[in-house]
Amino acid sequence: MAESMRETAISGPLPWQLAQWQRLSAQLGQGRLHHALLFSGPSGVGKRLLAELLAAAVLCSAGAGGEICGVCRNCQLFRAGSHPDLLRIAPEPEKRQIRIHQVREQLTDFVMRTTSMAPAKVVIIDPADAMNLSTANCLLKTLEEPSPATHILLLTDAPARLLATIRSRCESVRLRPPAPADGLDWLRHVAGLSGAEDLLGAASGCPLGALRIEERGGLQRYQRIARMMNLASVAAVPVPVLAGECSDLELGDILADIFLFLVELSRALAIGVPQGARIAGACDAYAELLPRISALHLARSMQKLLAAQRDAASTANPNRQLLLEALLIDWQQGIAGWQNAR
Ligand SMILES: [Zn+2]
Repeated sequence: MAESMRETAISGPLPWQLAQWQRLSAQLGQGRLHHALLFSGPSGVGKRLLAELLAAAVLCSAGAGGEICGVCRNCQLFRAGSHPDLLRIAPEPEKRQIRIHQVREQLTDFVMRTTSMAPAKVVIIDPADAMNLSTANCLLKTLEEPSPATHILLLTDAPARLLATIRSRCESVRLRPPAPADGLDWLRHVAGLSGAEDLLGAASGCPLGALRIEERGGLQRYQRIARMMNLASVAAVPVPVLAGECSDLELGDILADIFLFLVELSRALAIGVPQGARIAGACDAYAELLPRISALHLARSMQKLLAAQRDAASTANPNRQLLLEALLIDWQQGIAGWQNAR
């Protein structure tokens, strides 16, 4: 996911990642940093920032104790994005997956050669779950035979999508969102964003996710999706019309917002409205739906949504209209079935 403008201005560790940063920089300073680290946690929690900070510390020639001097040649080249001892592996433009040739050619050559100027080399694979099976197997060989002075940093929102054999060869750096009050405090004082309760809720408590939503125009999109799900639930508007109304939105964004809607609805069902609703602006939509849904229906809808996300990710050109219509019809029929059964 693209970084927000404010994220690029953050220079130190995020307060809710201070303990992990201190541990990693101490390991680096003592020469004990693992050769492969897996940074996992929900989108917007700050995985990329922490990994970038660690990469900068590995490359810095003054890096005793995991410090980043900011002025040495290594630090300058890191900032310029042209450090010869840093390799970034990500899907190529317009592609969803990291291809095997990227790992086979770029990574293998990179780990084999000696460092150019930094104390050690760094590889950042982001997102690591974009590797297909053959790419992952190719990486596995490198992880099994660590090269000296090389650290491989893998980043993922979805560690379960990685091969178990890859996970087991990495040291896990699992990142969690801060407590809501701390997240709001950071948004207010560091990012200059006040009254961001709904944004933080929509980002499942992840402050950087809240910033990204705000920079993309706030919660308008989520409100549209909540309205669509509400209208579909009462069959007020034909499903093809509802699906067509989202034609200006990215399919991935629509599916992500439907997933968030289902998660929030589950919270509201379990805890009640408004206590369980982290997005206060959507309380009306939840309140209308709650008497007409069951936990089982929500669980089934989430399964269908996850399958739709997988389909959308694995197909070059998914038929978005058909995919959305199928989801909305399932949603509508599930609610009607629950009503009839009562
Ligand atoms: Zn430096």
